[in-house]
Amino acid sequence: LGRRLNAALGELSKSDVVNDEVVDGVLKSICKALLESDVNVRLVQELRGNIKKRINVKSLPAGPNGKRVVQKAVFDELCDLLDPKTQAFTPKKGRPNVIMFVGLQGSGKTTTCTKLALYYQRRGFKSCLVAADTFRAGAFDQLKQNALKARIPFYGSYTEADPVVVAQTGVDKFKKERFDIIIVDTSGRHQQEKELFNEMIEISEAVRPNQTIMVLDASIGQAAESQSRAFKESANFGAVIVTKLDGHAKGGGALSAVAATKTPIIFIGTGEHINDLERFSPRSFISKLLGMGDIEGLLEHVQSLGLDKQQNMVKNLEQGKFTVRDFRDQLSNIMKLGPLSKMASMIPGMGDMMNGMDDAEGSMRMKRMLFIVDSMTEQELNSDGLIFKEQPTRIMRVARGSGTSVLEVEETLSQVRVFAQMAKKMGGKDGILNQMGGAG
Ligand code: GDP
Ligand code: MG
Repeated sequence: LGRRLNAALGELSKSDVVNDEVVDGVLKSICKALLESDVNVRLVQELRGNIKKRINVKSLPAGPNGKRVVQKAVFDELCDLLDPKTQAFTPKKGRPNVIMFVGLQGSGKTTTCTKLALYYQRRGFKSCLVAADTFRAGAFDQLKQNALKARIPFYGSYTEADPVVVAQTGVDKFKKERFDIIIVDTSGRHQQEKELFNEMIEISEAVRPNQTIMVLDASIGQAAESQSRAFKESANFGAVIVTKLDGHAKGGGALSAVAATKTPIIFIGTGEHINDLERFSPRSFISKLLGMGDIEGLLEHVQSLGLDKQQNMVKNLEQGKFTVRDFRDQLSNIMKLGPLSKMASMIPGMGDMMNGMDDAEGSMRMKRMLFIVDSMTEQELNSDGLIFKEQPTRIMRVARGSGTSVLEVEETLSQVRVFAQMAKKMGGKDGILNQMGGAG
């Protein structure tokens, strides 16, 4: 979907003039891409109408500014499509936050609850898991294995067959032990729907969750709407996690369908690995989809992990600046933050650099870049990198000092330049960040 939307907006930048014909062409391509990712026809028509209403082609300013008006209208409306306009519950430290998972079998509950527990654990919450799926054979073992791998305390039983009892016992135990995040996994067999809903209600009444999260598989596309409505009538869940957004063509359909039910999507699952969980916000998602990078998501991610070295970068970015030092801080933090490809996709320009590389290759390349920047002087680090162009002998010195090649140093510097240009475009009063409604 991203590639298709990109191509559509690309048509716009290629054309010299912005007239009705061009705008209609762009809109047509965008709508086609959305329909193909299973977004509801009515929603697509609404989006099209809204965009047209917002841009009055005759009164568009000439040149790049006119294009920007169109781009902004498209961006805003795409965000709107995914925006349920409601807030989700946010857990607080120092008190028990009970989170219950519901959803059909196979949707990804058990996998996702470990991901979520780890997500919070990394942010300083004391997290744990309760395995209240006593229906499926091996359900407890599955959760146990995940939890052991992630080093997250868990509770479950091989002998107790009543899920309500297991849930209650586990939650009580962990509350006494002063856990912050207590996640309850439930069963989700889909044959006996009525029974499933009854069981959900009983568990819910027993553990009184602060938040109930419904897990939805993205591959069901716009059918997500009826499914989430059915669940909503029974278990009054407050938020949704959409899983399997990796490689599913119907993701746009599922996301927009959930938004249409006015339920916030709080995370998305993007793979089977425990790190494949991303916070969801419509603006970040659309920015990434359109290849604009995801500065907002990146800042949230970095700030929530408390890596305060980035404060400098944040400040610089807001002023439209980016120094070699910022680049070094980013590199070293990125290496601490887990899956490289995920992080890279949030940084404008970085996704391209990592294209076609696996994580191991990418890590190696980043490590060498770190050697390179670590061989630079204070003056060089505080610069935007142009100093190397003015005095090329610096490049040779750095290559020698870092045990790399002149070519690699040059590549690193050109990467810094890409960032610096992005920063310039994004930051400052006239930057994209501010034009798009001020994300910074
Ligand atoms: P449950 O029955 O709802 O508990 O679902 P499980 O957690 O057992 O997941 C069912 C299958 O979906 C497993 O094979 C998971 O590895 C897989 N799965 C879960 N989340 C994702 C995701 O985000 N992406 C992909 N590709 N697979 C996922
Ligand atoms: Mg399960």
